[in-house]
Amino acid sequence: MNKVTLGATGITAPQNGFGALPVQRVDMETGVKLLRRAREGGMTYFDTARAYTDSEEKLGNAFGKTGERESVYIATKTQAKTPEAFWKDLETSLSLLQTDYIDVYQLHNAAQCYRPDDGTGLYECMAKAKEQGKIRHIGITAHKIAVAEECAKSGLYETLQYPFSYLASDRELALAKTCKENNVGFIAMKGLAGGLISRSEVAMAFMTEHDNVMPIWGVQRASELEEWLSYMEKTPEMTEEIRAYIRQERESLAGEFCRGCGYCMPCPQGIEINQCARISLMLRRAPAADWLNEHWQAEMMKIEKCVDCGVCMTRCPYGLNIPELLSIMDVFLFPSLFEGLGIVAIEGMFAGTPIVVSDVGGLNEIVEHGVTGMKSYAGNPNSIADSILTLLFDQQLANNIAKNGRNNKFI
Ligand code: SF4
Ligand code: SF4
Repeated sequence: MNKVTLGATGITAPQNGFGALPVQRVDMETGVKLLRRAREGGMTYFDTARAYTDSEEKLGNAFGKTGERESVYIATKTQAKTPEAFWKDLETSLSLLQTDYIDVYQLHNAAQCYRPDDGTGLYECMAKAKEQGKIRHIGITAHKIAVAEECAKSGLYETLQYPFSYLASDRELALAKTCKENNVGFIAMKGLAGGLISRSEVAMAFMTEHDNVMPIWGVQRASELEEWLSYMEKTPEMTEEIRAYIRQERESLAGEFCRGCGYCMPCPQGIEINQCARISLMLRRAPAADWLNEHWQAEMMKIEKCVDCGVCMTRCPYGLNIPELLSIMDVFLFPSLFEGLGIVAIEGMFAGTPIVVSDVGGLNEIVEHGVTGMKSYAGNPNSIADSILTLLFDQQLANNIAKNGRNNKFI
């Protein structure tokens, strides 16, 4: 396993860091066990945040009073917007982490590159905390590329944390390079692109090509942890096969897509934007049964309630047009048990969307299976799921069906 030195901090650790956001979802005993196992397996860089509920407490219980504190690097974050909140957060983090210093203290999800004399007082707090020895290095995390670029070049931050995976844009790849040139440690969050990347060995092989990048893999389950730990011994290398796979993945996800970060939420209409805006991607990439259930059908129905208020767009760090993204249909599903004329299906065809219908009533006449739509057995969820997945996975077929449907004699 390669080691990474985080820029001017001098912190050197295996290129296999632990992202402690997900451990907030498991109980204390399980979380502490996972963290200790990670350390035992060779991980030494652990990243958490004040905002991750009891994640800091779990880290504190895992390493604070066990004599292990010196053997790990702990990075945490504050979302404070005032000096008062900064000091309160810092003292809380030190206490929960059961330590008297934090290796890397980061301004969390910064909307701007905080500077001395910018009127917020936050950078001055960082400098003071470092002088007092409560923190060893000053870092920042950002989701907006322009802010991240400014931080990387500012000469003010020793580390920058930013979403980074093999789906990164050219501009994001250049950001990692800028960090290297400016001796800023680059910490990569969302190395699996919020669940869109399913082959961990490919994600890891990509990271090994960036010798200044420290990935922090979000870990919640022992099986996930063991997968990452197995790479300590046998680190995946970039091969021609992996390179070709990445190329294909980047092409299939070209354009704007939702990363699932959730910064746009809550939606006043209760829409689970971070899942609904990317459900068709997840259907293609994760076990479809996890998403084709009643719960997600009900959540997807809420999209109809979107009032286009735009609140979510002001929060999305990727500048996505969320209402538009939510309204894009990959498939029009019309699974009636009884049907007369099937006018709604004709409207779906007219919209240029490939349709899936049940084999009842007028739908039987309107739709020619595999040509102008897909027919499934009425009341049979497996048959419906098969048709949907066929269209999601076979883009060429979906395009042909959409085109034929649009030119259908019934329109
Ligand atoms: S635009 Fe739609 S999805 Fe976004 S916050 Fe408003 S109602 Fe929710
Ligand atoms: S729409 Fe934007 S903010 Fe919301 S989850 Fe997706 S990427 Fe994140």
